[in-house]
Amino acid sequence: MLYACYGRPGGPIVTPEKFMALAGPDFRAKGVLPYCPSCDEAVDPYGVHSPQVTSRFDHQNINELQAPWDDCLEANRSDRYKGMHADGWDYSRGDALRRQFFERDNICQAYAFCLTLCRKGNLSVSEFKALTRIADHKKIWAYQDIPLWIIPYILLTLGNFGSGPQSRFPFHFVLSKSQSKGLSQIWQPNQKCYLKKVFSASGDLVKTSDNPLVISHPQLEETAGDYEWVSSGPVGAMLGGI
Ligand SMILES: [Zn+2]
Repeated sequence: MLYACYGRPGGPIVTPEKFMALAGPDFRAKGVLPYCPSCDEAVDPYGVHSPQVTSRFDHQNINELQAPWDDCLEANRSDRYKGMHADGWDYSRGDALRRQFFERDNICQAYAFCLTLCRKGNLSVSEFKALTRIADHKKIWAYQDIPLWIIPYILLTLGNFGSGPQSRFPFHFVLSKSQSKGLSQIWQPNQKCYLKKVFSASGDLVKTSDNPLVISHPQLEETAGDYEWVSSGPVGAMLGGI
């Protein structure tokens, strides 16, 4: 993890070098710790004075009882979320972006996009709302420079689908990108990153014409299509209540 919050959850964003310079080598004795900007856990600075390694902050080892889809995106501990860490943080921009996302037009387009890829019957409004709450918990809105159009792609990676009584095949979505780069890779132009729908049991690709799906703003608009039926109907009214 590249950055942490200094001294308290939500504190100023610092690099490992900045943290050590401010807190000093006896930071633990002083009770001054770095905290993860996403999950708020205390983390450890690593490699600040070692020229042969890139300095970073490390999470504690994963709790064996924790499911991989509950893991922090910053922790890089589970294959599910490798390469989804932030390349920087901007909380005040994140607040504004979140408000923009919940505007009626934007959230209805996001729901239409996610429903098209999950297929009818696999994404109720309440399940979609749950995805936005996970996004809140992981603070993805505050990723530096994250564009509005990328949010629906991210939401799909945060859930498990198809486990209802009418579905026989649980599935989820993963990103196809360089795992060593941060999440911002997927919204840079000409990166050729994809969203893959896979069977949860095997990890195999679900074979449909739109899978894997290229990650781009035009693709979001094409997949969401005309979402007037969402915004003008009862689903729109329910989404407006988020
Ligand atoms: Zn974390």
